[in-house]
Amino acid sequence: MSYFTLRALTKSYESHAALQEFSLELAKGEFVSIIGESGSGKSTLLRIAAGLLTQTSGEVLLDGKKIENPEQKLVPGYDEIKLIHQDYQLFPNTTVEENITRPLLNYEENYRKHRVGHLLDRLGLTPYKDRLPRQLSGGQQQKVAIAQALAVEPEVLLLDEPFSHLDAIQKRKLIYELKELLGEMGTTVIFVTHDLDDALWFTDTLVVLQKGKITQKGNSKALCEQPKSKYVARLFSAINTLPDRDQSYIRPADIRIRTRGGLVGHVVDQRFLVHYNSLQVRLRAGGQLWEVDDPLRKHQIGDRVYLHVREEKIITLKS
Ligand code: ADP
Ligand code: MG
Repeated sequence: MSYFTLRALTKSYESHAALQEFSLELAKGEFVSIIGESGSGKSTLLRIAAGLLTQTSGEVLLDGKKIENPEQKLVPGYDEIKLIHQDYQLFPNTTVEENITRPLLNYEENYRKHRVGHLLDRLGLTPYKDRLPRQLSGGQQQKVAIAQALAVEPEVLLLDEPFSHLDAIQKRKLIYELKELLGEMGTTVIFVTHDLDDALWFTDTLVVLQKGKITQKGNSKALCEQPKSKYVARLFSAINTLPDRDQSYIRPADIRIRTRGGLVGHVVDQRFLVHYNSLQVRLRAGGQLWEVDDPLRKHQIGDRVYLHVREEKIITLKS
């Protein structure tokens, strides 16, 4: 049964539709990532989902109860649904501990101390509890913002590109820790990002948002192997167009380089990347430029190569 429901949400700014009939259902404790480029409507969606922005039409339900928008509710927003922005704001002149305590000021003191202590501990912030935000690294500050949002034990957490300020290593570590913590708490989570890699580190379930509409959703493997559009296909890697075959593509990793047969070409450029060399290969027939992975780092500029496409990996789009 759906616990958090976004139903046919539409938001128009003047004549411009930022969100169109967006629907999504999440079970309690489920995590979903929404991937979309800048301007695709991600922030608009999350603000409506949190009850912080009034939709043009559609509704948001939490456990069957309608979430009221700012026009219907005196104090907009809910303790049950917390939104964390990329540009979170910490109170600059109060310590880490005080920042996390602030949302709990109306709670009983024992509970408050216990809760804050637990969050400091779980997020590895205990050694920094007496510091001011500016005395922390970006990753630590982000954790304080997360702890602040989690202080009131929200049922739903909405993450609006919260890791954008962090470098890749910090980011992965934080995503990993956060997943564990949110899993323990049974929190239902929507994470939006423009970065597919971040989305994949966070969840297996992906929703692709383009111009305010869902264009595809499913697990990462299905999206990678059976994309419904060139846009989705390209999220995962470059794609090479197969000559003489309509709307058919192959990924650089799904091509084998052999000593004979297949498509002949020569290497015109080569890049040393983390796990492989990336080759630019000019095909002899037709002159197309392909991107090909060379995991053995065997080939150099000028080499003649014979490319064998893994037939079962060909992506064919419906026109
Ligand atoms: P994202 O978070 O994916 O970058 P947004 O939800 O911020 O996208 O914006 C979606 C679209 O709505 C964009 O085209 C943006 O310019 C437009 N938009 C967002 N907020 C407003 C606003 N307050 N007034 C007018 N247009 C807006
Ligand atoms: Mg945004």
